[in-house]
This record gives sequence, C-alpha cells and structure tokens, in this order.
Amino acid sequence: MPSRSSESWRARDRRVVWHPFTQQKLWMEEEFPVISAGKGVWLRDVDGRKYIDGVSSLWCNVHGHGRREIVEAMKRQLGRLAHATFLGLSNPPAIELAERLVALAPKGLTRVFYSDDGSTALEVALKMAFQYWQQNGKPGRTQFVTLDAAYHGDTLGAMSAGGIDLFHGVFRPLLFPTIKAPTTYAYRCERSKTEVECAKHCLDEVGAILGSHGHEVAGLVVEPVVQGAGGMIVQPPGFLTGLRELCTKHDVFLIADEVMTGFGRTGRMFACEHEGVVPDLMALSKGLTNGMMPLAATLATDRVYGGFLGDFKDRRTFFHGHTYTGNALGCAAALATLDVFKRDRTLEKLRKTIHLLANLLQDFYSIPQVGDIRTVGLIAGIELVSDPETKAPFPPEARTGHRVALEARKRGAILRPLGDTIVLMPPLSITEKELRTLVAIALDSVKAVLGAP
Ligand SMILES: *Cc1c(COP(=O)(O)O)cnc(C)c1O
Repeated sequence: MPSRSSESWRARDRRVVWHPFTQQKLWMEEEFPVISAGKGVWLRDVDGRKYIDGVSSLWCNVHGHGRREIVEAMKRQLGRLAHATFLGLSNPPAIELAERLVALAPKGLTRVFYSDDGSTALEVALKMAFQYWQQNGKPGRTQFVTLDAAYHGDTLGAMSAGGIDLFHGVFRPLLFPTIKAPTTYAYRCERSKTEVECAKHCLDEVGAILGSHGHEVAGLVVEPVVQGAGGMIVQPPGFLTGLRELCTKHDVFLIADEVMTGFGRTGRMFACEHEGVVPDLMALSKGLTNGMMPLAATLATDRVYGGFLGDFKDRRTFFHGHTYTGNALGCAAALATLDVFKRDRTLEKLRKTIHLLANLLQDFYSIPQVGDIRTVGLIAGIELVSDPETKAPFPPEARTGHRVALEARKRGAILRPLGDTIVLMPPLSITEKELRTLVAIALDSVKAVLGAP
C-alpha cells in the first residue's frame, strides 16, 4: 500500500508540474518516487524507501549525495556571498576555480568562460568558434561538422549540433544545418565488421568532408571517447586522435563536449586525456559541482581568446552572458568538489571500481536479448534487442527499457534508460558492495521484463 504522504505529493505534482522528457499523459498513471533526501549513492523518498542512484542523478553526481565537505563549503560561501553579477565585477571563488580548471585541463586551454548548464556551455563554444572566424579573416567558415547520434543539449544551438531524431526531429525547421558525419556505432555499422574498421570508416568520411568543405567549416563538435545520450556509443582508441589530426590539418576548431565525460567519468579527469588530445574549446558541466549546483564552463585556447581582443570600436567583443554567469555559490561547490578528488584519491581508487563493473557486466551476456554491452570508465550501456540474430529492436511502444527501470525501482535502484539501452552510471564514490547490489538489481530487472530464467 502506498502511504498517504507519497500519494499526496504525487497528486500535487500531477496537478501543476510538467516533467522533462516525459509524456505527461502516462505520468499520471505512474507511481513515481518523490525524493526528499540523499546520502552517498542512496536516495530516499518521502516514505523512507531507499534507492541506489544508478545514474548519478543523470550523470552529474561524482562523490555521492550530501557530501559533507562540499555542503560545508557551500554553507560558508552562502554566509559571504551567494551571487553578484559577473558583468563588470568578479568574485574570489570564480577566479580560483578558473585557475584550478586551467591547471587541470589539457595543456593549452587557458581561458574559462562560465555559464549555467551543459547546453549553454556548448552554445558558448559554438558561438566563440563562429565569431572567431568572422573577425579573423575567414568569414566563410560558418559551418559545423557534427556526428550522428550526438547529443549536446536542448537549446536551439545545442540541438542543431545534435543528431538524435526522436528528440530533435520536430524542431529541425528551427535549427541551423550542420554537416553530419557517421559515428562509431560498431554494433549497427553495416559497412564494417570490427570496431576498428568502423572507426576508420568514420574518420575517412570526416576526412572527405573536411577535404571538400574544410574552408567553410568553423568547428567539429564531438563527445570525446563516448557519446552519451545517443546510447553510450564508445569510440575505439585512436578515433579522437584521428579527429584532432584532421581538424589540425584543415585548421578547423575541435570542440570537445566533456559535459558528461568530464570529472573522472571515463577513468581520467577528462576523456581527452586518454589520447593526450588538446581541443580548441571544451565544454564542462554535470560533474563540475558534484551535481549540487547548476554551473558550466567553456574552456578556450590562447588562440581562440586572442581572436577576440581589440579596441571597443573593433567590435571583437564576445557579446554573450547569463544572469548567473560566474555564480559564487556554484563556483564554491565546484572548488570543494575538486578538493574531494584529491582528499579521496578518487581517480586512483576508481580503477578497481571500473574493473569490477566490467567483470560484473559479463553476467548480462547470459540473457539472449542482450545485443551489445558498451562500457568505458564507470559508464555502461546494455542494449536490449528483440532478436539478437537480426539485431531487430523491440517496438518502441513496448517501452522495454522503461519497464526495466520500473522493475529496478521495486528492487531499490533508480535507472534511466536510453530507449532500450539500460544505462549504469553510478557515482564514482560507489563501494564494491553497492556496485554489486546495483548490477544485481539491474540484471534481475532485465530478466524479469524479458522473462529470462
Ligand atoms: C547532458 C549533456 C549536455 C547538456 O547538459 P544540460 O546541463 O542538460 O544542458 C550536453 N552535452 C552532453 C554530452 C551531455 O551529456
């Protein structure tokens, strides 16, 4: 029996709230949990039921909920200053955070531009790349190359760079066109048998695009190492390096969207580090504040930054900003988050956790309808198909992935699938025992939905 307290919260929610990425008609029948507390990897609802946060509250929690040091730092900052405009003013946490990010990021990224979320961080990068060429002798460079299945956020510019038709299709007439390149989705690649071949084919295509259109291209946008919302599509080693080389050859800016991959998610602080790649622009958000405050940053090289310097009359200013740019409370949360990386030796300890996840995932192969398992760092995507031979998907209206999430919820874990790809992406701080519990719940839930023994 659902208790009165959660029922009454749900009733109030259903009357006035409109949820993201949600068909509200179906929401009215759903018994969604109402979360009122979080500690470590655990979320608790108003009835006191506990759930493992299996997707890090949409990929942004790193050190766990309610992490004391971060909460304390935020309280201290609140006692001093929550927010003062960054237009015409500065503040200590924003200055210190920029110093720390520059020191931490791939060498060569030397400037930090703040905004509020992943979408705006990416929009800022697109606008910087575009304007750079307008005022630096190549105004014909107005286009962007983007990958199939890319996801860069939900504002119009970020959607323009995206490639997920289910989300972006209806808005197409509003979006600016980009040059689409194929992506490294080896499982469904018709032209190649191996991941390496698939990646080579993609790189060849990008090379061909830049060969013929390079002089019109301002930048190439990529989620380095793994494409998130597109289905956790992992790139084989060398792909990012290949993109970097092609961009350098054609003098096109490489824009790395590290909104999901940044802050340890792939096992390194930033995914670009796996291949020693330095992008020209890099977008950060999600893990930046341990998911505790909306904050984002776009990092730029000296070259990009230098292209905006001049006298006021030169009209080279970057006219972009948001009310909460450089928010002091958010920057304090981010500084404390970086401190915890050091204190906990998060990246060092993470190696064991990543290894364990990769091992535990093997159990999923015992289920015939598991078509593909993609994993890197503390990210896993388990793609379910109705027929493993033909790789035919389940009909979307069966909502197979969603049903797995509902089963997981009954068993005490929060999952949010991408279509029929089950995503596991717990906070990096998850213990071995908690990870075993999470994977076991996910496995049982998939079996329950598919009727597997
Ligand atoms: C989540 C995400 C975004 C969008 O971030 P928001 O904070 O939701 O605007 C952009 N890029 C990538 C790779 C993401 O995963």
